[in-house]
Amino acid sequence: MINQAVHTLNHYYGFSSFRPGQEEAIRSILNKNNTLAIMPTGGGKSLCYQIPSLVLDGTAIIISPLISLMNDQVEALNATDIPATYINSSLDGSEQQHRLNEMVNGNYKMVYVSPERFETPHFLNMLEKVDLSLIAFDEAHCISQWGHDFRPSYRSVVPYIKQLSQQPPTIALTATATQQVIHDIKNLLNIDSEHTVVTGFARENLKFKVIKGVNPNDYLNDFINTHLNDSGIIYTPTRKTTDQIYESLSEKGIQVARYHAGMSKDERQVAQAAFISDNVQVMVATNAFGMGIDKSNVRYVIHYALPKNIESYYQEAGRAGRDGVESECHLLFSPKDIQLQKFLIEQSDLEEDQKRDEYQKLQDMIAFCHTTHCLQGYILDYFGDRQNFDHCGKCSNCLDDGNKEDMTKEA
Ligand code: ADP
Ligand code: MG
Repeated sequence: MINQAVHTLNHYYGFSSFRPGQEEAIRSILNKNNTLAIMPTGGGKSLCYQIPSLVLDGTAIIISPLISLMNDQVEALNATDIPATYINSSLDGSEQQHRLNEMVNGNYKMVYVSPERFETPHFLNMLEKVDLSLIAFDEAHCISQWGHDFRPSYRSVVPYIKQLSQQPPTIALTATATQQVIHDIKNLLNIDSEHTVVTGFARENLKFKVIKGVNPNDYLNDFINTHLNDSGIIYTPTRKTTDQIYESLSEKGIQVARYHAGMSKDERQVAQAAFISDNVQVMVATNAFGMGIDKSNVRYVIHYALPKNIESYYQEAGRAGRDGVESECHLLFSPKDIQLQKFLIEQSDLEEDQKRDEYQKLQDMIAFCHTTHCLQGYILDYFGDRQNFDHCGKCSNCLDDGNKEDMTKEA
């Protein structure tokens, strides 16, 4: 069956070989094992469930956290004549019913759904009539309350799936590798360690840099002006800062798009499309932007201020250089930003013990900004994936670049 998988890879995707971890994950699922694939952003997780879906008989159900993500995936699949669809709240009732009927008739290889679908008895009834090949949880960290994007509805899917009369293999995919989250996903979905595929988290082509003691606006201007032909993302901690930077860059004549959850759906879609299609080089955004976005030529990601934890940071910074070309990840650190992150934790509706956990993660994030050791190495340590990695040789600590001046300033 693995030969069929290779054939599918060539035929539908035009790729000649698997990326690290893909073959192992595909093999595991083709052998009907519940499987967990942990790969960095851009590592190629989609193929780990798409190829088995194409090789196996029946229909795969893919649980996905975002409507835009489902649209993109389905569009890409349809473009290569793979029968796939999504069923979610963006469709009116009759279109939903139409697609459900088609699903039951076996006319799709893949059906993308939001986790909330499982709360409707009608969907579950229809699902019982489908010949299921596999069930995939994309962005599976959403299942875990330890994950940085916990979605209760994601977790609620699990008991529904366990009640189905068919028990197809389940594959969970995530770029989040903290031990707690992995443990939680494996427990919930009954995944053995031998069917957990973890590929190296090191991103050799990313140049991490922590910058202290600069005026962030001046820094941004200089950086953008020297990278005018490059595509890049600027992450800010709040909608307000996103708007401010957007306006200030626009005033300076820079073509820029913005994205945050306070904008209308249409506005967000237009902004995202402009950035993805290279009509606009710079995207200023909150962490609402980017999940699952597949834009390969992002040359830099700048964190305008301290992010809340290493998981979010690495996922966001990791959107740079998905094509393997050397790219910059700059974090502008100012001690005052710590207060903002603490405030956001306090304001959240998390339970007390979860807040404590978030505080700890914030401390680890701050420690990243202060370490004098390799920054990539620090991240790998954080995820427990150091293995044979020594140092990257290109981050601001390895190059001894960027921090010195400020240490005296802070002192
Ligand atoms: P992830 O979900 O892990 O962030 P994606 O599945 O979106 O990553 O894949 C990222 C990019 O890598 C996509 O453009 C995809 O087409 C490409 N890709 C995936 N697998 C391969 C492969 N075996 N060879 C070449 N490119 C690949
Ligand atoms: Mg993905």
